[in-house]
Amino acid sequence: MISLSVNGAAGRMGRQLLTAIAEREGARVGAAADAPGQACIGLDTSVLSGGDASGVSVVDNVQALERGGDVIIDFTAPVVSLALLDALEDDSTRVVIGTTGFSAEQLERLHEHASRRAILFAPNYSVGVTVTLKLLEQAARALGDDYDVEIIEAHHRHKVDAPSGTAIRMGEVVADALGRDLASCAVYGREGITGARESQTIGFETIRAGDIIGDHTVLFAGNGERIEITHKATDRMTFARGAVRGAIWLHSRPAGLYDMTDVLGLK
Ligand code: NAD
Repeated sequence: MISLSVNGAAGRMGRQLLTAIAEREGARVGAAADAPGQACIGLDTSVLSGGDASGVSVVDNVQALERGGDVIIDFTAPVVSLALLDALEDDSTRVVIGTTGFSAEQLERLHEHASRRAILFAPNYSVGVTVTLKLLEQAARALGDDYDVEIIEAHHRHKVDAPSGTAIRMGEVVADALGRDLASCAVYGREGITGARESQTIGFETIRAGDIIGDHTVLFAGNGERIEITHKATDRMTFARGAVRGAIWLHSRPAGLYDMTDVLGLK
């Protein structure tokens, strides 16, 4: 039986993760944590997941979280995820990070942590998005520079980072396949007299509205035709189940930084 701990347990994703662990054979909730002062601290995790009593109370510190689980799953915020990694004492504690919105400097710190601990880090844990990334790589390679690439994403009104981590990852995959550097070819939104579209750029458009869980479309537009590759998430459980699957996979891995294509054997 693998014990999985959840950081950010009271969040939109944290609650789904508790449910996904409970429904997964061979796994159990080892510990759950949220921020100090939250109303859920000290309560049984079932208060958050709506399931049967787990006998596990929500804690507010990393040490208790680490004691409870072989693998910690963290969907919180960049500063919280990095503080978690900084505070862990045992290098054999594996960590699945679902948080998005890391700056370049924060990503560097994440990579440093992966030199001594196994970390799974993906901007999107759905199996469908992971497969979509492979499709994008193939499409970009085959279509080449004659097709303009635009990435359009939509999320709920509470999302705090833009473009989404998934959209950025899609951009990186396409840019790599086309031999471009995303940092120098990305265009984020357009307004006013922009002039004609510069070839070889990759455009990002962001929509924030209502309760949209996560829609992504990558548009390849050439002369006389266009291809749209779209993924739509309709239930957060798809991310939670993927993250739990990833946590179980990570349990037996050595130190290093992994992503969902490793978990699904798509590398
Ligand atoms: P949320 O705001 O609903 O939840 C975040 C939780 O973290 C809250 O309960 C908050 O109290 C808790 N938290 C804050 N500080 C903390 C601390 N010091 N210690 C412990 N917990 C703390 O957000 P959400 O919608 O659940 O999303 C969380 C993150 O996951 C975001 O970055 C989002 O973009 C990302 N996300 C990733 C995927 C994926 O598949 N990778 C899918 C959905 C969301």
